[in-house]
Amino acid sequence: MSVKVSRIIEVLEQLAPPALQESYDNAGLLTGNPDQECIGVLCTLDCTEEVLEEAVAKGCNMVVAHHPIIFSGLKKITGSNYVQRTVISAIRKDLAIYAIHTNLDHKLDGVNDRIADRIGLTGRRILDPRPGTLKKLVCFVPVDFAGAVRDAMFAAGAGGISNYDECSFNTPGTGTFRALEGADPFTGRIGSRHEEPETRIEAVFPSPFENRIVKAMRAAHPYEEVAFDILPLANPHPGIGAGLVGELAPALGEKEFLGLLKEAFGTGIIRHSPLRGVPVQRVAVCGGAGSFLISKALAAGVDFFVTADMKYHEFFDADGRMVIADIGHFESEQYTSALLQEVLVKKFTTFAVLKSEVNTNPVRYFH
Ligand SMILES: [Zn+2]
Repeated sequence: MSVKVSRIIEVLEQLAPPALQESYDNAGLLTGNPDQECIGVLCTLDCTEEVLEEAVAKGCNMVVAHHPIIFSGLKKITGSNYVQRTVISAIRKDLAIYAIHTNLDHKLDGVNDRIADRIGLTGRRILDPRPGTLKKLVCFVPVDFAGAVRDAMFAAGAGGISNYDECSFNTPGTGTFRALEGADPFTGRIGSRHEEPETRIEAVFPSPFENRIVKAMRAAHPYEEVAFDILPLANPHPGIGAGLVGELAPALGEKEFLGLLKEAFGTGIIRHSPLRGVPVQRVAVCGGAGSFLISKALAAGVDFFVTADMKYHEFFDADGRMVIADIGHFESEQYTSALLQEVLVKKFTTFAVLKSEVNTNPVRYFH
């Protein structure tokens, strides 16, 4: 059975909806055709010419990368730099490139989850939850159809709360309506008021899934006109936002913790702000450039903030209240390709989903 590129994209977008990407980002399908048949997927952190060659050699025609190779726009495609050459190569080789970038950074089960795995953090939560990411669907369904409508809502992604899914609240009640001329009511007669025993079903959902969930609910609902409410909630979705914070159990000494980081991420050198002489218990992490989260990490009372791409002045911002550790951009995000591979392998068995073996880190350490 052939699988189209669009089907792979659907699975990736269920993990990290494109609506969660930053405004400056360019995640999504960058080259290739969604209708093209997928014969194999190669997952990578960066999409380079070498990775594309690897894809072809391994029989893959789709590359799923964390970093978008086309990021700030392309005005010419003459092959005068590595971005242009990579794009030309992808088109010549008929390869689809899909990037899953800041949208994957903003999920509790995304990039930062893999960093937390390597450090061994427990009690993981989002460091900076994003407002406006949680909504509630309330709908009114004839009693006999409540089960089917609930199932459809759950299958489309409603009702998930942290480690629980299929969460809903159900209240019995009576719906009234009068069908007018031209209506085709599921029950009741034209021109007379009808009373129907109904269930009020309510369930929360991540806001990027709204269209999908409403469509699924409508499809399972027997009425011609479905009564439902979409309510924006003031509490953010607990699994959506930037950065991750968790605890080390047991606490480690600061140097011991730095040793753990060096080992776990194979980093050539760790740049860090001054040590404070206190045990490391609470730790925040942010894969890639994380300076925008310094104030959030301080507010969360963390002992260490593990991230990358820190500038000189940003180390001052630790202010003796935590230690900022810059473990390198590639190093911090290197386990993302395994995450992508695992997600796809679970869904697709008729073709290979591989992880790139190319070390794409453009940074070298002289020591
Ligand atoms: Zn990155």
